Amino acid sequence: MRRTALMVALFVAAFIYVPGTSAIAEITYNADVARMIDNVTQAELEPVVNDLSGETQAIIGGSPYTIQTRSSFSGEPIDMAEQYVFERLDSYGLGSVAYQNYPGGGAIDPGSNVIGQINGTTKASEIVVIGAHLDTRPWGSDIAPGADDNASGVSAVLYLARSFADKTFERTIRFVLFGSEENAPWTTRKFGSGYYAFQAKQAGENIVAMISADALAYNVSSETLRIVEMHTRRPKRDKGGGDAAIVTMWQDAIATYSITGLQPEPHAMSNRLSDHGSFWRWGYDAVLLIEEIGSKGNPNWHEITDMVSTFNWPYYEQVTKSLVGLAAHQAGITP
Ligand SMILES: [Zn+2]
Repeated sequence: MRRTALMVALFVAAFIYVPGTSAIAEITYNADVARMIDNVTQAELEPVVNDLSGETQAIIGGSPYTIQTRSSFSGEPIDMAEQYVFERLDSYGLGSVAYQNYPGGGAIDPGSNVIGQINGTTKASEIVVIGAHLDTRPWGSDIAPGADDNASGVSAVLYLARSFADKTFERTIRFVLFGSEENAPWTTRKFGSGYYAFQAKQAGENIVAMISADALAYNVSSETLRIVEMHTRRPKRDKGGGDAAIVTMWQDAIATYSITGLQPEPHAMSNRLSDHGSFWRWGYDAVLLIEEIGSKGNPNWHEITDMVSTFNWPYYEQVTKSLVGLAAHQAGITP
C-alpha cells in the first residue's frame, strides 16, 4: 500500500512540476565553452593537485613550501593552502578575490573560505556558486595529501576560474574554496560552507545554483562509459525542482559538447554529505558532483595513500569538462 501511494504521488507530482529559478530549458552550443572544454587537459589540472597534495613544492607568498596536510586543525599548513588558492585566484584577473573568515566553534578551529567572483551583467543579483572544499582529513596521521579528496575538485574549480575570467556571464559567478568540510559544516552556522550559506541567507542573497565539486579523479571501472554521479534532494524536498534542473543542464552539456566516456548518473537521495548540504539547509538549490562512490569508490579516501598516482586522468578530464559546460551555461555565458 505504501509503495502504491508513493507511485500515485509521483504520478501526480509529474503534472504539477514547476521549474525552479535556476531552470533553463535547454542550452545552445557556444564556441567559447567548446574551447574551454577542449582545453581541459592533465597539463592544466595536475600542477595544482601536485602542489596541494605535497607532491611538489608550492610557491606561496613568493617562497617554496610543501603542503603535507590541509587538515583544518593543522594551523600553518591549512593557512598556507588558503593563501595558495587566494594567490592563484588573484592572478586570474577576476572581478574580486577575498577571504571570508569564519569563527569556528566547539572543537573546530577558525579558518577562511576563499572566494573569487566574476560579476554578472544583466542578472548580477542571481548568483551561481561553484565550490570545492580545500581541507583534508587524515586517519591517524599528520600527513593528509587529499589528492582526490579534494585537490581534484579544487584544481577543477581553479581551472574554471581562470578560463572563465575573460568571458562575460549574465549571472554573477563565485568560485569558493571552502574550509572545514570534513567537520560536517551542513550541521552548523559557524564554519566552512555552513557559515557561508548562513551568511548568504542572512544577507538575502539570491543564490540560484550551487555545485559542490568533491572528488573527481578516481575510477577503476573497465566499462567504456564510466559513471559520474550528481546528487540532489529527493523530489519531495527539491521543491520547484531546482536541483533536478541543474542535473538536466549537466546532462544537456555533456550531450551538446559530446563529452565522451561518461555515464552521468543522477542520485535523488538527499545525501547532504558535502558542502552542497549547507546550501540545502538554507533553501538554496544545490548539487554534488562526485566520482562513482559506493562499492567502486576510492579506497584511499582519508588515508595517506590518497595520492595523485591513483588518478584516472582521462576520467578526471572528462568530469571536469562536464563541470565547465554546466557552470558556463548555468551562469548564462554571453555569446
Ligand atoms: Zn571531500
